[in-house]
This record gives sequence, C-alpha cells and structure tokens, in this order.
Amino acid sequence: MHGSTWHVGAVLPAADVPPLGAHTITIGSDGRIATLAPCDPSGLTAAQAALVAMPALANAHDHGRGLATLACGVADAPLEHWMIDLARQPRVDAYDTAALALARLAGSGVAAVYHCHNTQDSAALLDEAEAVSRAAHDTGVRVAFGWPFFDANPLVYGDHAVLARFFPPDRRAAIATMDQGLRSCATNMALFERAQALEHDTFTLHYHPVAPQWAQPATLAAIAAASAASGRRVHTHLLETRLQREWADAHFPQGFVPWLDAIGLLSPRLTVAHGVWLRPDELALLAARGVTVSVNVSSNLRLRSGLPPLAQIAQAGVAMGLGLDGMGLDDDADMLREIRLAHLLLGQPDRDHGGPVTLPDSQPVLHAAWSGGRAAILGPDDGGGRLAPGAPADLLLIDRRRMGQDWIGDGWPADPAWLLARATRADVAHLLVAGRAVVRDGQVTGVDEATLAARLAAQARAARRATPPDTARIAQMQAATHAFYAAGCHCGQP
Ligand SMILES: [Zn+2]
Repeated sequence: MHGSTWHVGAVLPAADVPPLGAHTITIGSDGRIATLAPCDPSGLTAAQAALVAMPALANAHDHGRGLATLACGVADAPLEHWMIDLARQPRVDAYDTAALALARLAGSGVAAVYHCHNTQDSAALLDEAEAVSRAAHDTGVRVAFGWPFFDANPLVYGDHAVLARFFPPDRRAAIATMDQGLRSCATNMALFERAQALEHDTFTLHYHPVAPQWAQPATLAAIAAASAASGRRVHTHLLETRLQREWADAHFPQGFVPWLDAIGLLSPRLTVAHGVWLRPDELALLAARGVTVSVNVSSNLRLRSGLPPLAQIAQAGVAMGLGLDGMGLDDDADMLREIRLAHLLLGQPDRDHGGPVTLPDSQPVLHAAWSGGRAAILGPDDGGGRLAPGAPADLLLIDRRRMGQDWIGDGWPADPAWLLARATRADVAHLLVAGRAVVRDGQVTGVDEATLAARLAAQARAARRATPPDTARIAQMQAATHAFYAAGCHCGQP
C-alpha cells in the first residue's frame, strides 16, 4: 500500500463536527490518515476546490445482488409474495455476482458493507463464500459476510403440514416435509469453522441467523452462545413485515423481543435489520442491550413492508445504521440517495405531537451512514467513521460541481444540507479504503465493472434459456401461501 496526498476544498470530518475549509490530507503507507492540515484555497485547482472529503459510507445491510431482481422478472411486491418469485432468478457465477454488486456499491461511496448471503445453491455455500471473499479482495470494499443459518419455515411462517392443505393432493407430501431437509445448526457451525480460512483484511464472517422465524429457537440460542464466546458479531432480519409481527405475537405471547433477550441474543454484538414493526418497549430493550438497528427504507417501500419508526428509534437511543438491502429506490444501489430518504423520513412531523416545529438535523443520519453502520460491520473499535489523524483512511471525495451548479455563494456549498439534498452516485469522484483508491475519477479500479455486467447478463440469459422458471409452480405457491396467511395460519389458526 502506498501513501498519497489529497487536496480538497472542504472537509466534513464527522457527523458532530462542523465543515472545515480547504485541507491537505496525507495518507500513510499503513492505510491510515497521517495528517489533516488546512491549506491555502488559492493554491487549489478548480477540480480540487470542488472536492469535499468525508468519511466513506457504510451500507449496513445488503445481499450482494449483482443481477437485479427486476432484471429476472421479479416485480416489486410484498415481501412474502416477492420471495417466492425469487425462484425466477437464474443460476449465475457467484464471483461475478458479488464483484459487480461490490463495484456498484463502491461507485456510490460505500467502503464497508454487511453482506447477508443468499445462497444460489445451499450445497455450494462454502464455494459461494470463497467467491465473495475474492470479490472483496479484488474490489477493495470491506465486507462482513453474514453466514446464513436457515433451518425453519422455508415457505411460510408456520406449520408446513397446514400449508400443504392449500395445495393439490399430488403436491401435499412434498410441501408438508419441505422444512425437514434444511442444514442443521451443528453441520452449519462446522462449515462456518472451515469458512474462517477465507477471512482476510477486508473480509470477515459474522453469524447470520436469517431471521427468528427462519431459524430454530435452539439455533438462535447456539449462535448467541457462540457469539458470546468468540466475540463475533451476529446479524439477523427482524420484524420486517406485518405478517412477521403477527407470527411473532402469536408464537411468543410472553413477548417476542424479551424472548430473544432471554436466550442471550440481544447484545452489543447484534445488528437487527429492518425493525419496521418494532414497538417502543422493544426499542427501549434493544437500546439497553446496545443492539444496532439497520434500517432499509427504500427496500421497505419497494416491498410494501411499511416504514421503520425512525424517530422512535432515534429517540430510544438505539444505534442506527442504513442499508440498501440490494433494493435501492431507483434500483441503482445509490447509498447517497438512501441517506437522503432516511434523513427526510426522520424529519417528518409526528402526527401525535404538537408544539414547535423541529429544525432539520443532519447529525443522526450522517452518524448512521458514517459510524453507526460501520460499527455494525467492523465492530465498535475500528476508529473509522471520522476523518482524523490515525483513523483508517476510508474517505469519500465528492465533486460538488454538478450539485452546486446554481449555488450563488462563493466557492461551493460545504454545508452537509447540500449533500443530503442533492448528492447521488454521479457526484462520487474518489473512494479510498485503507488508503487504496477503490474508485478514482468516478471509475471503480479493482475490477472492470462494464465487463462484469455484460458477462453476468450473458450468463443469466443463457441460464434462462436453458432452464426457464416454472411460472405455473410459482403462481401455485403464491396462491397457496396467500390463502395460508389469509386464513390466519401463521398465527396458529388450524
Ligand atoms: Zn435483507
């Protein structure tokens, strides 16, 4: 790793520090910021003066979707319906998928991502993890890989023998036993041990019980114990949809989140994704246990999940990260737009409270994007999320010329309000990760993004021709699961 020097017109050092003027930033050969010193703005080129340096972004929940779901004919729809449609996705190369997904994230300023792995082939999990590990190395993006533990409720939240009744007789036996062939916790833990050989500077493994409804209670407890023993982090989806809320309330009448606490899962090592249907008392418990909530507002909008209680999360003092979930608003993996959306939603008035208006505050959302999510990915002691000597040289440099083109003040706007109002991936000039220029002049440097995209599309089209999706079976499955939920079977109705 070589050191480098950057001259910029402005610096946003951290969420709780006001903007600074022109600076020279030097990066040491150790991948850390060596110096951050004011410089004479009159000595900067026009391009340098337009740059604003800030901590690189963290995407605290994603799935590494190199091939968009929409591209596969999977239309946005409520999660439970949409997930069945995912069977339309063709098998493609795991490395190309991950490398393209990471390249796109880098292009929107993301230096660190939580990658919840969805297997294409459950039997190939170790190979797929190796491919993601290689993609992390080649792109330079820091990846926390969520090793999936998925051993309950594969088709619906509830009894699959009951679901089978909603199918024609010839399908019932297969449906009723669908939840029995899943990889056991013990087998998966052994595989997880082997996978630790794949770890490197920018690739670490975390436990990922996919969600409480998708893991056996004993599996959740085993992961909680393993995390406490090893210090490894845990990440799980939690209460993303109304149907999940109903399932949880019906199955844990003593309190769902308190039950997660009782089995030891709630800790500062835990991140929960979505939390759309969390209640105030549950948020208070999460705050008390130091849990991070990773919110995904674009995904929630697109999958009709509802919106997370952002103001309540902030008020409860729960640590927050932001995630794209592979489902950005315009399907373009734009983390900057995701930050804008979260910021705007966080600042809307509460219809249950009167009194004076609340002024916009950029701190909570910038903290989530720079620090909160990063801590969920890299742990709390990484020293990043702010620009200061000694901190990891994970820097995002934004070119303000497009977004500030109608600015009537001197120079370029430095207030983060501008960033939050207008920045998109089009404005990303450079991204450094541990000092390495992962994006330079708007181009990803570690992989050839256009070639990867073309290769992946060609593979997907060939796979689609060779093995078209069984659309009749998908429609049958969707109709049966709709009927199951409509009858209240997820709440234990017989
Ligand atoms: Zn997700």
